[in-house]
Amino acid sequence: MAPRPLELDHDTMQRMGRQVADTVAAHLASLRDQPAYATLDRSGARVLLQAAPPEHGAPFEDVLRAFSERIAPHHAREPHPRFLGYIPSCPTFPAVMGDWLATGFNFFAGVWSVAAAPNEVELTVLEWFRRWMMMPEGASGLLTSGGSAATVTAVVAARHAALRGNAADIGRLTAYCSDQAHSSFTKAAWIAGVPRENIRPVPTDAAFRMQPAALRAAVAADVRAGKLPFIVCSTAGATNTGAVDPLHEIADLAAELKLWLHTDAAYAGFGVLTERGRALLDGIGRSDTLTLDPHKWLYVPFECGCLLARDPAALAAAFSVHPEYLRDVQAGDAEVNFSDYGEQLTRYSRALKVWFSVTYFGTAAIAAEQDRAMSLAEEAEQVVRGAAGLEVLTRAQFGIVCFRVHPPGVDDPAALDALNDEVNRRVNRTGFVLMSSTRLHGALSLRLCIPGYRTTSDDVRAVLQLVRDTARDVQADGMGRQP
Ligand SMILES: *Cc1c(COP(=O)(O)O)cnc(C)c1O
Repeated sequence: MAPRPLELDHDTMQRMGRQVADTVAAHLASLRDQPAYATLDRSGARVLLQAAPPEHGAPFEDVLRAFSERIAPHHAREPHPRFLGYIPSCPTFPAVMGDWLATGFNFFAGVWSVAAAPNEVELTVLEWFRRWMMMPEGASGLLTSGGSAATVTAVVAARHAALRGNAADIGRLTAYCSDQAHSSFTKAAWIAGVPRENIRPVPTDAAFRMQPAALRAAVAADVRAGKLPFIVCSTAGATNTGAVDPLHEIADLAAELKLWLHTDAAYAGFGVLTERGRALLDGIGRSDTLTLDPHKWLYVPFECGCLLARDPAALAAAFSVHPEYLRDVQAGDAEVNFSDYGEQLTRYSRALKVWFSVTYFGTAAIAAEQDRAMSLAEEAEQVVRGAAGLEVLTRAQFGIVCFRVHPPGVDDPAALDALNDEVNRRVNRTGFVLMSSTRLHGALSLRLCIPGYRTTSDDVRAVLQLVRDTARDVQADGMGRQP
């Protein structure tokens, strides 16, 4: 049998495209009736999917059916109204369409000359972000695969600036963040070559905010010990609790101590679109570099992170190389080669999905949903406060509320942890909701994270009722009683 040609005719492409669009639309429109969470163990997944690569192809309908029947069912639905664990990603449909167009046209967004207009869209989107984040004119950066990649880019730029060519000093570089900072900062520092023992988790206060005095003391001790403090990472919206470090105080200290100021606002940064978010994030614009995650609270699909730099030339200083085979694509003074700002040469146009969604809905609609999500978390907090046997551990902030089951009379910490762990496991096993747990000052906490636009008050109340019912069952089974 002759192999089929790879080029398809117009009608065939159109038919396939419609089938896929129909599949996605049907999936998204029926999310509420699907489980929020479904998974497989490895052996089950292998039986379902492992196969040798076929030498000869199959009809598209068969491939799509295999997707629908064997792949699609077995995943946690991030955009589901009751996906409330970790940090949900709830993309708008126009954002998904923009992403498809970027892929369909296969724009090469690494250098200016081969994708001028898509690159201008990226600069436009970055300029929107700069204004929202109140960074000074001239600040810009690039879109990345996610917050982790953005932070790696920032730390590498900071390292380059700190070493000033003295590579031998790399073993002295020392980095600071709070003990609530996202692990991606530590990982970024590792990748950048900062010795693992030179990453300082600075203690936080009762509200999980970095203590500036402790930062000052840690830097002073390190200087005395011959270290080279070079970067501090403020967290503006901690993944655990939504807590925001004292941004102004840390910015003042960074200026005084000559530290590169990075801010990790991957989760909560786009909350600046709301009035209360803007108040909570005051000072964010003072950063040297700032990590954002449009695939979280700007409602675009994976993958989309962003790094903004006060001085994009600092990124170019660290990342720009000009090999002979790219001599035709050097950027002019007014143009930008995004490959000069980060590690990727070939990169797709992530800006399209942001541009489509924001242009279609406008910022007011997006801000309204963010605001509504924050109110829902506050409502969840109120329900928890009013429920016997539940206890608020951190107040709702940026759509996150931490709480636990705490039956009257049960005060042994280990028993409470075991009870909450079991409640978390059983609740998630139902598939009705995905929530997650964390530890706060040592105590096991349940956590709801509600940034999505599909979640309703009824969802939140039903989830909390399920937690209470489950807690009762777990206790009836003999757990969580005073030992
Ligand atoms: C999600 C998150 C990150 C990591 O971003 P990815 O997009 O997952 O790489 C970093 N910091 C914070 C505060 C986050 O919430």
